[in-house]
Amino acid sequence: MAISFSGAAKAEVCRVFPNRPCCALAECFGILLYCNSFTADSIKIITESREFAQLLPALFKKAFNVCFDIFPSLEAPGKLVFQITDEEKIAHIMESCGFSPDDTVALHVNLPLVEDDCCKAAFLRGAFLAGGSVTDPGKGYHLEIATTHKSVAMETYVLLRELGDINMKSARRSGGHVLYIKQSDLISDFLTFLGAPVAGMGIITAKLEKELNNKVNRRCNCDDANASKVVEAAQEQLAAIRKLEELGVLDKLPAKLHQAAVARKKHPYSALSELAELMDPPISKPAMNHRLKKLVEYAKEASK
Ligand SMILES: [Zn+2]
Repeated sequence: MAISFSGAAKAEVCRVFPNRPCCALAECFGILLYCNSFTADSIKIITESREFAQLLPALFKKAFNVCFDIFPSLEAPGKLVFQITDEEKIAHIMESCGFSPDDTVALHVNLPLVEDDCCKAAFLRGAFLAGGSVTDPGKGYHLEIATTHKSVAMETYVLLRELGDINMKSARRSGGHVLYIKQSDLISDFLTFLGAPVAGMGIITAKLEKELNNKVNRRCNCDDANASKVVEAAQEQLAAIRKLEELGVLDKLPAKLHQAAVARKKHPYSALSELAELMDPPISKPAMNHRLKKLVEYAKEASK
């Protein structure tokens, strides 16, 4: 199966392994708040990214010194499910994240864990890996991270604002809360910030290609418009010449106009410049245009 743009971006993000313990904890924190389930009973992370699946055990080992109770074979097709069900492990993880397992208070972004900028970036990498996706820029510009916890979405929003330029929009979606970006340059910046500059560049390249194609298309449409204008004018001229013939006045026209009419009749699809060349003596394009316009006027006069 071909890897999606989103999958490639995640693979790139996964190449950044947090060296500092604070960042490993922050990244796991992001994963936990944006994963499928983080409760006192169970932690469940489902992903299609092989790279993320490879990173997860090492990350949890470094941050919490715990192993997953259920983990998939990386060779397994489709979605991969990681789970921790052991209550003691979950209690330890909850406490490391600043929560009490007995506490039923909704999960939130525990600010001390993401105080330093290095940890903020790690937290967002985790959030993107667990709950994020980015659309193939050939199809559109959309990056989002989704969580089931409302306060987490709001607090992440504030966190992003604190980082400066990253201004995401927020929306509610069935059973969840989404932060998203629709502008190509902001998506590119965000991916680069997460440690995926190649994917970020991919957005910009796709945008440039699209703009170039649009420009070419516009030019073609423009040529078409000109071409149809030329055809319309020629048809009007031919109709006028036919009229003059019917009325028996074509041969009585001044010599210059007669010459122009004969040339147009013989060359119905020729451009003005070509007809101008055929005059004897050859004349300029505007002069040719003038003669043909005169012919149309004559026909109108004559048919009154
Ligand atoms: Zn850190």
